[in-house]
Amino acid sequence: MLSRMCALFRLAILRVLLVLACVPPAVAEQPDFLLEEPVAGLFVHQGKSVDIDDPARADMANIGFIVGRDCVAVIDTGGSVAVGAALRRRIKHQTALPVRFVINTHGHFDHALGNAAFLDDHPQFIGHAQLAAVLGGSEDFFRKNFAEELRGAPDPGIVLPTRTVKDVLEIDLGGRVLRLRAHASAHSPADLTVEDVASGTLWTGDLLFRERLPVLDGSLRGWQAWMRTSASSIHALVIPGHGPMARSWPEALAPQEAYLASLERTVRTAIAEGQFLEDLLVDAPRSAPAGWQTTRPHARNLVRAWRELEWE
Ligand SMILES: [Zn+2]
Repeated sequence: MLSRMCALFRLAILRVLLVLACVPPAVAEQPDFLLEEPVAGLFVHQGKSVDIDDPARADMANIGFIVGRDCVAVIDTGGSVAVGAALRRRIKHQTALPVRFVINTHGHFDHALGNAAFLDDHPQFIGHAQLAAVLGGSEDFFRKNFAEELRGAPDPGIVLPTRTVKDVLEIDLGGRVLRLRAHASAHSPADLTVEDVASGTLWTGDLLFRERLPVLDGSLRGWQAWMRTSASSIHALVIPGHGPMARSWPEALAPQEAYLASLERTVRTAIAEGQFLEDLLVDAPRSAPAGWQTTRPHARNLVRAWRELEWE
């Protein structure tokens, strides 16, 4: 009798294991999508530190959401519809409140291609006044190079802002005000920061890179000006576009400040010495700075800085 009970018990365990093995992958991928809640109701998913040709490139930016009394605001949606959908699942798991706002800090693929995952929520898609032009201008590039990331998005795949910010816009999630500020060209031509006013948290988008080498796609002088201005403001917590969150401000700006200053020095010296851009690029591996996780964008940054500074 006892051995028959043991056999039945083993069979039951086997059935449970078989059922577990058949659980759809959506559940299995959740543990990989880690969320932190550094401030009550403010959730951050830290992107992976990978290069742009890595299979995990769609998940390399910091993205997240903020929950108010009435609704949710998403801040950046990841580099693919799949990453956006993973974020959306985590939101639905966390709260039954509706997603009323999807904010893009700028128009680079790793922050904006997940927008389509939120279309069913019918939110306001909010971005910098220049964001539509930036995303629209990148449409062919995205379609050609990010077809896999756009899989599942309705045509044309790129979700443009339905509400834009020229200067400052405040939105209320219900007892929780977010202050959105549009900036002059810096990391990109369409940078927007989001401040959770009550907690003193600043979400910088790619205006701040930590550990990963900053990528210049706007204006070097504009970016340096943004850093000078921002250094004097007080924030309890800063969430960069890439890398770990920072509680010390403006100290968290220092490595990026040093890199952009050295980029400026290198380019200005070369121009003053009558060098050509080609010479500078040959030398790029040597002038690439140490201490950053990936130095690949350095050559591109040299080209950008050169174009900006050569006619000054
Ligand atoms: Zn970016």
